[in-house]
Amino acid sequence: SIVTRFAPSPTGFLHIGGGRTALFNWLYAKKHGGKMLLRIEDTDRERSTKEAIDAILDGLRWLELDWDGDVIYQFSRAARHREVAESLLAAGRAYYCYASPEELTAMREKARAEGRTRLYDGMWRDRDPSTAPAGIKPTIRLRAPQTGETVIEDQVQGRVVWQNENLDDLVLLRGDGTPTYMLAVVVDDHDMGVTHIIRGDDHLINAARQKQIYDALEWELPSMSHIPLIHGPDGSKLSKRHGALGVDAYRALGYLPAALRNYLVRLGWSHGDQEIFSTEEMIAAFDLSGVGRSAARFDFAKLENLNGHYIRQSDDQSLVTQFESVLDYVPEGAALKPKLNDTTRAQLLRAMPSLKERAKTLIELIAGAYFIFADRPLELDPKAAALLTPETRALIGRLRTALEAVNDWTAETTESAMRNFAEQNNLKLGAVAQPLRVALTGRTTSPGIFDVLAVLGRQECIARLADQAA
Ligand code: GLU
Repeated sequence: SIVTRFAPSPTGFLHIGGGRTALFNWLYAKKHGGKMLLRIEDTDRERSTKEAIDAILDGLRWLELDWDGDVIYQFSRAARHREVAESLLAAGRAYYCYASPEELTAMREKARAEGRTRLYDGMWRDRDPSTAPAGIKPTIRLRAPQTGETVIEDQVQGRVVWQNENLDDLVLLRGDGTPTYMLAVVVDDHDMGVTHIIRGDDHLINAARQKQIYDALEWELPSMSHIPLIHGPDGSKLSKRHGALGVDAYRALGYLPAALRNYLVRLGWSHGDQEIFSTEEMIAAFDLSGVGRSAARFDFAKLENLNGHYIRQSDDQSLVTQFESVLDYVPEGAALKPKLNDTTRAQLLRAMPSLKERAKTLIELIAGAYFIFADRPLELDPKAAALLTPETRALIGRLRTALEAVNDWTAETTESAMRNFAEQNNLKLGAVAQPLRVALTGRTTSPGIFDVLAVLGRQECIARLADQAA
């Protein structure tokens, strides 16, 4: 059965490209009834942090990309990596290299000067270790083939060929006994039973090196898929400004996990011209043959539109819940940091059908709902304050009286009360609506005013009107 894996290095947040790699691995496993394993590649002890591990796990959970079994920590497997390096040594597929740092530097400089990509000259490849200088802890190097080709049949890139004469005898185990990254990845993927490796194409060159290790071990190479990296809208490397953010940043910006998954799946993968995929549809349709070879371009506007679509599709109660969970990301002391209680929660739920039509993100939803959370007496914005002449204040007093007579308080009943009032006083509806808006929201623009009346409810409306009445 199929086993994929997501293998992030915990040196930073879960990058958006990492999120996509995880999603592709997850979809492939789900589609084939297999498993997706999670391996944290924490062998770089200086750069790996606990915070980064937590951020990766959190990001995956938020994206609802669950993994199978326990998280595997690469560093904890160092003894096994060493054992494999030593087995290669015993089999003659690897050798001790006693080259000193100075010798290696000189070799490298010489190779560069001669325009060769193979940097190590093989000086210890066939040398008797008993002639080794004292005091040097040797590395273990792979005895890589010196002629011929290393070939990967990549599911995305097609057939990729390297000339062995250009590849080094790579180091498997350092002088201090720690495994190199290249060895660790191969041993872990093999031991974890990984059948399909799906990762960014920045790892393609590693694939050649890893293939040589697989060959030396006589292990079967998993299926390989190197997916093109995500680029900025102009085709350049993805920058922060263009969306190279952590998954947690998208969460804080008010995107829904389902929308982000849908956006990410279309970054580099296509299925006809279908744009919107439910999770079930995605699983059913996903295939490596749909992954393109050219870099996908990040497009914020497309993500926003997709998110707006998912917001409109969401049920109102779940939006209230998501609204509440994104509030944790709004900084304390921000202009709008709503506090929810039973009253405002009920008001928010009532407002949701009209709010969600206008919002592309949960943050826009919060912004649209400002009138619910404004404290009395309302702080008026300058335009609204300018409208509050003594005449307007007197009118607000009369509107309050008219509204107090409304029995069954809904958008419809309050609207008809206001229409009647306007008619009886020979006023246009706008001449009534605008003072109402100012008194109820503190602004000159707001969601539909009768929706505002219905959402806030009678008691709060009457109180806000009283606050501004003459
Ligand atoms: N740890 C690597 C990364 O974060 C991935 C290695 C792999 O997928 O083989 O880029």
